[in-house]
Amino acid sequence: MPTKPARLCGCGRRVANGARCPCQRKVDAERKARFDKTRPNSSQRGYTGAWEKARKAFLRRKPRCARCGAEATVVDHITPHRGDQTLFWDQANWQPLCTHCHSGAKQREERRNTARNLK
Ligand SMILES: [Zn+2]
Ligand SMILES: [Zn+2]
Repeated sequence: MPTKPARLCGCGRRVANGARCPCQRKVDAERKARFDKTRPNSSQRGYTGAWEKARKAFLRRKPRCARCGAEATVVDHITPHRGDQTLFWDQANWQPLCTHCHSGAKQREERRNTARNLK
């Protein structure tokens, strides 16, 4: 039975035809690792694409921070959505905030949560 001729890889190894040489597998793994590192996880992927678009459009319409009037860079959920998709995409629940006000708002919210958890 004729065996398939081995091919000579660029690295000098003889590899069965159609098989990946260990050196190629290493390159594949490295490429995949690099790709995985830059790629957000699956839930974030769905989230970022559509959210980024909606967020940018919203900030174009409302470019000023709702609290201090500075340039808004963040779309904040007035009522925290906590993964609730309806609340998340409800633009009536969105407000433009600058980074400063946004971090302040989030800190207050966290304090509220802490207080609630203590009860
Ligand atoms: Zn090779
Ligand atoms: Zn502000």
